Amino acid sequence: MKRRARGKPIKHCPHCNSSDLEIVGGMILGQVYHCRSCDYVGSLVYETDAPLDAKGA
Ligand SMILES: [Zn+2]
Repeated sequence: MKRRARGKPIKHCPHCNSSDLEIVGGMILGQVYHCRSCDYVGSLVYETDAPLDAKGA
C-alpha cells in the first residue's frame, strides 16, 4: 500500500475559493468558518485533499 502524500484536508471558501479560513467557533450546529479574504462566515466550506494548484510534473 502506497500513499503519495497524506495531507490533511484543505478547506476552501465557497465564495472566493480561498483557503485562508479560520474556525470562529464550534456551535450547536457545528463549526463555523471565517474567510479572511472575503469575510464570508458560515459552516459550509469546500474540502479537498490536495491543493488545487498541485498538478505539477
Ligand atoms: Zn472567501
